Parts: sequence; structure tokens; C-alpha cells
Amino acid sequence: MELLKAGWPERAERSAEVIETVSRILSEVEREGLPAIRRYSEHLDRWNPDSFIVPASQVKAAAETVDDELAAQLEFARTQVERFARAQRATLTDLEVETLPGVVLGHKHLPISRVGSYSPGGRYPLIASSIMTVTVPKVAGVDTVIAMAPPRGGNGIYGPQLYTMDLAGADLIVCLGGVQAFAALAFGFEDVAPVDLVVGAGNAYVAEAKRQLFGTVGIDLLAGPTEVAVIADETADPRLVAADLLGQAEHGPNSPALLITTSHDFGAAVIAEVDRWLEGDWPTAEVAGAAWRAYGTVVVCESREEVVTVSDTYAAEHLEIQTADDDWYAASLRNYGSLFIGAEATVAFSDKSIGTNHVLPTGRAGRYTGGLWVGKFLKTVTYQRLTTAGAASIAPSTAAIADAELMFGHALTARLRSADGGAQAL
Ligand code: NAD
Repeated sequence: MELLKAGWPERAERSAEVIETVSRILSEVEREGLPAIRRYSEHLDRWNPDSFIVPASQVKAAAETVDDELAAQLEFARTQVERFARAQRATLTDLEVETLPGVVLGHKHLPISRVGSYSPGGRYPLIASSIMTVTVPKVAGVDTVIAMAPPRGGNGIYGPQLYTMDLAGADLIVCLGGVQAFAALAFGFEDVAPVDLVVGAGNAYVAEAKRQLFGTVGIDLLAGPTEVAVIADETADPRLVAADLLGQAEHGPNSPALLITTSHDFGAAVIAEVDRWLEGDWPTAEVAGAAWRAYGTVVVCESREEVVTVSDTYAAEHLEIQTADDDWYAASLRNYGSLFIGAEATVAFSDKSIGTNHVLPTGRAGRYTGGLWVGKFLKTVTYQRLTTAGAASIAPSTAAIADAELMFGHALTARLRSADGGAQAL
């Protein structure tokens, strides 16, 4: 293995400053409530209105910021996301099975009642995030979806983002950013009761806030600063690969971009193309260039198997494959948030409008979870129902195990249901 350019550390690091800042904001909001939310919103976002809940009149006015073409394209994207979420929901069937005569076990999927859905809005107002995080819980059957996004300038939520939150079906819209937004929904604020689950992507503060809030509320997954990896060989177009790497690096200066290839010459060609894009006409070169210089990585491997091992170690949020062996790679790779198979499948499609969810695991969380989807808004709960004969067939085993565990109450409740009607127990 040869490292043509180093940048992205293999092990995810969490900054002590971010951990400490988030912990302070969360504990102050938990202790003081609204005054602390106001203080941090004012300090970090220069935003301190009478109420952080966006009034219906403002939501209505946001429609004027969206022209007919954008409205049609937003509806297209919303429809694709809804279509895929509905198809995924249909795969989650309830189950009831008789495992022994008179012993019926089952599971069913119950929607979570109240969800807080965050759309990032610091550097760019991520309008598409509002579709990903609001449309999907509505498909799941969530009663109340509270959408939140940071203010932009001194004007509250960016008009097209506000419009999209409403289009996607938000029940309430809150203008708050970052940690204070998550704290407000987790602990409750104004007359808004705490939610049961918070979801959505964001910067390192947002990801850390969710990590620290887990337990107080449910979280979907850790979805922090965007990452992209591309697996490509000499059959790929280096300029296209370079564009796809920079296209994701523009998310922020801490967004890693990784090329894994089996060809030294191809790796060198992509590095040259990245430099050409950055020196030429790349509109967000300042951000994408900073990300590439700090976190851009190019690894040359000796075999396809080594490519897979390297890729699975990074567990990139987005993983593109542009090779002569796309199907082999697709079948062999295990750790990623979402996979883009072939040169036509660029990450930007899924970021905006193809229909798969763009809230995806970062920081190597792809080792243990996929991204946001309709199933994250459902609880798979089990139940059991027995006849007298069924109970009699389970009771001896339960009683014996409970005895061995010294749990005499457990043993008693089992024996009360045994074939002799609890004669041994009484
Ligand atoms: P954001 O909405 O995540 O964060 C903005 C908020 O951060 C501000 O409102 C502010 O309150 C807070 N903040 C800023 N500096 C702070 C500080 N020093 N201390 C405490 N809080 C602070 O918007 P963003 O910053 O533009 O970040 C969006 C991120 O979302 C990017 O990193 C992007 O890559 C990522 N993203 C990830 C995914 C995913 O699925 N993983 C998807 C889309 C976007």
C-alpha cells in the first residue's frame, strides 16, 4: 500500500473543545431553560426573537421566496424521498408466529410520537435536509414532527428552507441552530414539550450534542461533517473523480475526501485534476481546497481485496465505485453510509433529490449503522400470548433458570402457571 497523499486519520477523533462546549451548553439549558437558550442563540447566531417558534404568517410568506421552477423541483425531490420511504416501510411487516402449541410470539412497528428534525444552516442552508428529516417521519406515522433550522443573518430561517419544511409536512417550525436547538427540543422550551427522538445532520457541535443527549432523548445516528471516498481504477475519468471528491469537500473545511485506487498513475492523475479544478473555476474553492489540503487522502493498493480492507477501515459516509469491477466491489464492501455504484451515480444526486436519505453516518459510525430511514422512526416492539397448555410448556424451563439465578419471585410466577396449576409453588 502506498500513501500518495495523507490527510484523513484512520481513527475518528473528537475535539476536547467541542465536547466541553457542548456539555456546558446542554447543562445550562437543562438547568435554566429558556434564558440559557436565548443567551446561546444570541451569542452564537445573533438571534433572540420574542418566540423561537416560527409564526404561520412567516411560513406563508416564505412561499414568496421560491419561484415556480424551484417549487417544482422541490416537489420532485420530496416525491422521490417519499416514494422510497414508503417502499422501505412496506418491507417492515408485522410478525406473529406460534413457536410451540399455545405459545404465540409477535412483533409490530410502532411510530415514535414526537420527533425533532434538524436541518443544517450554518455555511449553506441545506434545504434538502428538511425533506430528508420531515417527509420520512411523516411516512412512518409520527404524530408530531418539529422541524428546526438556524437563522440566516438576522432574518430567521432562510425562506426556501422554511417553505420546504412546510412542504414536507412539519407540524411546528422552530428557528434555532446547533446545540441550543437540540437542547430546546430534548428538554422542552416555551410551551413545547420535550420530544422523544431528535434526528438530522450537522457540524461537529451538532453531532456531539446528539451523542451527549442520547438517553435523555433517542437519536437517529451520529451524522457529522460530510465525508466522501471514491474507489476508482484506470478505467475511470480522473477529472470526474476529482470533481466528485471536491464536490463533497465543499461541505466544510473539515470534510475528508479519500481516493482508493489500484493504480499509482491514476492516483497521481486525480491529484493533478483536483489541483486544476482548484486553480481554475471551482466556485467554492476556498472551502473545498482547505478541506482537500487538510483531509484529502490518496491511497494506492496492491489488490482489490486491499482496497476493500482500506475502505472498510475508514467506513466513509459516502462511497463511490468507478471501476471495471463495480459489482465485485459492491458485493464485497461492508462499511459505508451509502454506496454509489458506477460513474453515473454521484453523491450529489442523493444529497438533493434521488430519494435515498442524505443523513448518513460519519466518524466511522458506518461500521455499525446505516443512515436515516423510515425504520429509525419506528419502534419494533414484541408481545406474547399463551394458552394454559402453552404456559405449562414454558414454565419448567423458566422456573429452573430462575431458581439457578436465585430469583425466587420469577420462579414462583412461572410455577403458578405450570401444568399442576401451581400446586408445587403453593
Ligand atoms: P449547522 O446547522 O450544523 O451548524 C450551525 C450552528 O452551529 C450555528 O447555528 C451555531 O449555533 C453552531 N455553532 C457554530 N459555531 C459554534 C461554536 N463555536 N460553539 C457552539 N456552537 C457553534 O451548519 P454548518 O456549520 O454549516 O454545518 C453543517 C454540517 O452538516 C457540515 O459539516 C456538513 O458536512 C454536515 N452534513 C452532514 C450530513 C450527514 O449526513 N452526515 C449531511 C448534510 C450535511
